[in-house]
Order: sequence, then structure tokens, then C-alpha cells
Amino acid sequence: METEKKMSLTTKVLIGMALGIIVGLGINLLGLNEAGSFVNEYVVGFFHIVGKMFVTALKMLVVPLVFFSLITGVIGIGDINALGKVGGKSFALYMLTTAIAIAVGIGLAAMIGIGSGVHMTTEAAFTAKEAPALSAVLIDIIPSNAINAMALGKMLQIIFFSILVGISILMVGKKAEPVVELIEIGNEIMMKMVNIIMAVAPYAVFALLAKAIANLGLGLLVDLAGYVLVLIAALMIHLFVTLMSILKVFSGMNPITFLKKMRETQIFAFSTSSSNATIPVTLRAVTDRLGVNNSVASFTVPFGATINMDGTAIMQGVATVFIANAYGVHLGITGYLTVIMMSVLASIGTAGVPGVGLIMLSMVFTQVGLPVEGIGLILGVDRLLDMIRTAVNVSGDAAVSVIVAKSEGKLDESVYNDPNAGVLTDDDLDIPDEIEKEMAEIVKETHDKS
Ligand code: ASP
Repeated sequence: METEKKMSLTTKVLIGMALGIIVGLGINLLGLNEAGSFVNEYVVGFFHIVGKMFVTALKMLVVPLVFFSLITGVIGIGDINALGKVGGKSFALYMLTTAIAIAVGIGLAAMIGIGSGVHMTTEAAFTAKEAPALSAVLIDIIPSNAINAMALGKMLQIIFFSILVGISILMVGKKAEPVVELIEIGNEIMMKMVNIIMAVAPYAVFALLAKAIANLGLGLLVDLAGYVLVLIAALMIHLFVTLMSILKVFSGMNPITFLKKMRETQIFAFSTSSSNATIPVTLRAVTDRLGVNNSVASFTVPFGATINMDGTAIMQGVATVFIANAYGVHLGITGYLTVIMMSVLASIGTAGVPGVGLIMLSMVFTQVGLPVEGIGLILGVDRLLDMIRTAVNVSGDAAVSVIVAKSEGKLDESVYNDPNAGVLTDDDLDIPDEIEKEMAEIVKETHDKS
């Protein structure tokens, strides 16, 4: 008799995260991370391999998953007008939350007045990147070669192409039934693959965090305590107050349930520092745990991972005030409004990958005439802060997905309110004996026929 209670994946991931931080910190504080030392070469080196393999495996899923699930989603909506509404609403909400986020960042940082009196000696050089013109961003949505777009993981192009395929399938109608079936099965297979990769997440999260913290330590954060504390406070205000109020007001759904169900996804984002690599996990959480219909989630999640970065916007707001003050530059209301506008625009054209926030910041600085080399001041702490803001980024994507789904009648509230919905346990990876037999039969039949 099996009485043993299975631990949920979320609990295991939480344990992995805690142990990873403790071990990483231990290695760092004991000075075992010296280049060339045994621990650094072999132990941290091993963590590096495990972590990297995991993130790469997640990335491997992104393109086919988005492709299959988005086409399935478009066919699921079945109505081009409804599709337009989902697109319009999510775009508006993503832009709105990003603008609010950056305003919160600027407001809090300006109120506390961080950055004045900071020494402007920067060791790390930072070269600016020109902001692409809006026209270039728009043109770049359309791929000249769909396969190339997939090979390069260009998310907006992949979204565009998949939607077009979905609409065309709808237009072909009945004759396209076999393709619909193929794509739906493809989607199911990809979602199973997500489960397989997620099963090793507790170990991978441990390895990723142990490696990052062993290398970086937390001492860096103390040196820039003012900037770090204001930034973390603004991120927390945005996640727990702004986003949760927006969720409650626009959808009426319970924020506590939302936060509980998003914890695992937030840890993934935190450990990988990449909204893009987290897409498979976010998509799974939003559909299976929060009850958002795939027809909405398959669009809002990858779209959000690309264009919606609330946490990154907050960082840009706080960093702008910090560096402006450090250099004694007075930006004024117009300057700050330009910063808000530029950050919102910059977020549309840049993908959610590690460290991209700094590149966006350099685009904003060039526009408002702040010294780009000032970014060197915050470069050292950015790797750690990137982890926290990425967790906020994916939370914003999920909150907007719930709101849009609710307003379109595509939210299954019984799933949202069921604490156990979509919880992954080891049983999910078992292949039942009957299925194994069935598959063996199918293979045998096909083989005998040929
Ligand atoms: N790492 C962030 C993300 O993937 C982007 C950034 O802030 O650098 O969402």
C-alpha cells in the first residue's frame, strides 16, 4: 500500500533554492571560489554544467512550444475579432503596467534621493547601444524567413508567423482537420516535454543559484546598499501592491492564490534570469494552475515575455535617478517623461534574456543625454538584481494573462481556485504499463505493414 505522501515540485524547488543560496554563500564566504582552486574548478564547475544544461534544455522547448501552442490557440479562439481583442487588451495592459512600473521606480528613488554623494569612479566600462527606431521595430515583426526566425528565436516574428498559420488553417476549414490534429498533438507532446525538464528543476535551481552566489557573493550588494534597497523595495511594491491590485480590480480573482501558484515560476525566472527561457514554465503555470485557456495564454505568455518587463522598467527608473543624481544632472519632468516613454518603447524591441535590462538602459540614457558610462556604477550588482526583476517580469505576464482571459470568458475559475490544480508530482512522469503496451503494438503494426 502506498501511503507515502509525495512532495510537490514547488516544495522541492523551494528546497533547491534555499540550499543553493546557502551552499553558494558558504563557498563564497569561505573563499573557496578562488580561481584555480579545487572547489571552484570542480564543484562550482559542476554546478555550472548542470545549470547551463538545464537552461539550454528550457530554451530548446521555447520555439516549438510557442509555435504549436499558439496555432492551437488561434484555432481554439476560432474568431479573428476575438483574437484581435486578446491582442489589443494584452498589449494595452502590458504597456500600462510597464509605464506604471517605471513611474514607481522613478518616484521612489527620487523621493529617497538616492545617488547624491556617490563617487563616480567607475571601473567597468559600458558601451551604449543605439535604440532601434520604432519603424525598425515594427518592420522587424515580420520575418522574411520563418525558419530563420525560429532558428534565431525571434519571438515577435515567431508569434506573427504562428498566428498567420492559425488563421490560414481556419480559412481552409474542414480540409485542414488532419493538420489541426497534428498540431494539437504536437502541442500536447511539447507540454509533456516541459514536465520532463521540470522534473529535474530542483537540482538545476540548486546548481544555478549555488554557482551564481558562489561567484558573486552578496557583499557587492552592501557597497551599493542605497540603490539595491530602493530597487528591491520598488520591485516588491510593484509585485505585491500594484500588480495584485490591478489583478483584483480588473479580474476579481484572489491575489493570494495567484501568488501561491506563481511561486514555482518565479523561482525559475529568478534562477535563470530569463523570461524567455521561463516561457515553458510560465505557460504551464498560467494554463494548468491558473486556469487560463490556452487560446489566450499561448499568445499572452510569449508576447509578454518579449514586450512586458515590469521589473526591468523599475530598474531603469531607479537607475536613471541614481545615476542622474550621482552625476549631478537635473532631468526635470520632461526628462523623466522621456525616460518613461523610451523605456516602454525599448521593452518592445528587446527579448527577455539575462542582462538585457542594461542594454535597454543605455538606449534610454543616450536619448535623455545621461552619461552612459554611469551604468558602470551599477554593473557589478546587476547580475544579482536581474534575478529578482526577472521574477517580477514573469509575474506581470501571468497577471495580464489572467485579466485578459477573465474578460474574454476564457478563465476556468474552478482551476484557478483549486489549490491542487496542475501540481506536478513524480507520478506525472510515469508511463503507465497499458500505454507502453499500446505503443509497442502500434510500432509493431506499422513495422509489419511496411
Ligand atoms: N533578464 C530579464 C528578463 O529576462 C531582462 C532584464 O531585465 O535584463 O526578463
